[in-house]
Amino acid sequence: MKRIAFARICQESNALSPVPTTLHDFESAHYLTGAALLAATTKGPELAGYFKRAELAGFMRAVGERPREIQAVPLMSAWASSGGPLSRECFATLEARLVAMLRDAGQIDGMYFALHGAMGVEGMRDPETQLLRAVRSVIGDVPLVISHDLHGNITRERVELATAIVGYQTNPHRDHAKVGRKAGRILIGAVLGEHRPVMAWRSLPMILGGGKTIDFLAPMRGVFRKMAAAERTPGVLAASTFMVHPWNDNPALGWSTLVVTDGDHATADRIADELAELCWSVRHEQPPAFPDAATAITAARGAKLRRKLGCVMMADASDVVTAGAPGDSTHLLRALLEQAAGMLVYAAVRDPQAIAALWERAPGDPIATSIGGTLDPARSRPLPVRGTLVSKHERVGFGKTIVLAVDHVRIVITEGPAMVMRPSFYTEIGLDPWRADIVVVKNFFPFLMFFLPYNRKTLFVRTQGATDFDAAFGLEFDGPIHPRDHVEQWRDRDALRRGVVEQARIAREA
Ligand SMILES: [Zn+2]
Repeated sequence: MKRIAFARICQESNALSPVPTTLHDFESAHYLTGAALLAATTKGPELAGYFKRAELAGFMRAVGERPREIQAVPLMSAWASSGGPLSRECFATLEARLVAMLRDAGQIDGMYFALHGAMGVEGMRDPETQLLRAVRSVIGDVPLVISHDLHGNITRERVELATAIVGYQTNPHRDHAKVGRKAGRILIGAVLGEHRPVMAWRSLPMILGGGKTIDFLAPMRGVFRKMAAAERTPGVLAASTFMVHPWNDNPALGWSTLVVTDGDHATADRIADELAELCWSVRHEQPPAFPDAATAITAARGAKLRRKLGCVMMADASDVVTAGAPGDSTHLLRALLEQAAGMLVYAAVRDPQAIAALWERAPGDPIATSIGGTLDPARSRPLPVRGTLVSKHERVGFGKTIVLAVDHVRIVITEGPAMVMRPSFYTEIGLDPWRADIVVVKNFFPFLMFFLPYNRKTLFVRTQGATDFDAAFGLEFDGPIHPRDHVEQWRDRDALRRGVVEQARIAREA
């Protein structure tokens, strides 16, 4: 019987958010160890309130395919909503716990580690690589397979430390479990000596491109099809493209392609190269330019029939909580209060201070307060409002929640991350999207799937915030970066970024 440990430490960080992610954010969202983790990944739900089955359930399915050969050893699973970089203390605690659990686990023959790939820590440049180093220091040279979100960033050190790296192949993401299963199969095969995974990767000096980067739409559809076709090639174990989280503070940030084969360097190289060329060829297709709030409100007002048959969805593209923004922006809310009279609007804002000040008040109470603009005061201002307290709730993930009625707007104030992505964010607190004219979400893509029954028109709105694409251009890069700068070709920087990997391979093969 071979023993394989498994763990997750997952969060997507936005380096521009001044709100640090703390241990409380993990422990109040998803934090499981040992037997509880084993139960969650076999019986479910894996991440209660978020995902029924994700990478670790997929991994356990791969283990279940080899019941007489493999025993899974659950360590820990920690997941937090996207947000600012982790505090140093939070990171150090998670790392120390993981290392202690690995030591306590005794002799293991391999490990699966689910990471996001775009996690940041205050004052650190590549914290996930630090986690891999810590893991390696305990497990030694046994196979270590990791998985990343499609928005992860691949660095040379990660490629050196991992046996194989596998990424999501859907955007919006819906293949978490499938990816975990693929990682599990590669790992189990390596542990049992059935195959010998080798990797080839390419790193592009590019942080945005491919239009909306949706897997089933042009221009990225071709890249996703190519990955699927590659994986049907004999000897190819995985083919991934990583499109990075542009607000990740790592100078070596850039799209990359990564192919895992069974001992076949030449095929891995060839496919990684072809995928990189495909990605580079769509670099000029940028995300669409979004209208400002006034333009969007005018468009919503004109969409009378659509509002009658459902609602108009407004995505607050400058304050996307699922991409790490603080969720306290008041720009769009202010515009909706001032310019959307006559339309029933549902909107959300995160403000722990307002929650604390209002929590003792009762439904029906008249309220005069200011909301929002406190977590990231550099990007928006507190908004004074007068209205009525409608209801109070305590909710997993969102924390204490208060609904305020201010004229035609129902404002949902949350203590925790206002991760507005699913209808349940509103329906659970008595706000029925069928009744609304405009429903605001703080999400880029997944809401399009979840709100499908209600949504009659989608408007992405740009104000000013931590998830503006060009806001990422102020971060530090190791050279010119597309699309901020004119970049002639990708191969020089790719060679620089990969240099040491190449040397190590040459040394190994010599
Ligand atoms: Zn992602």
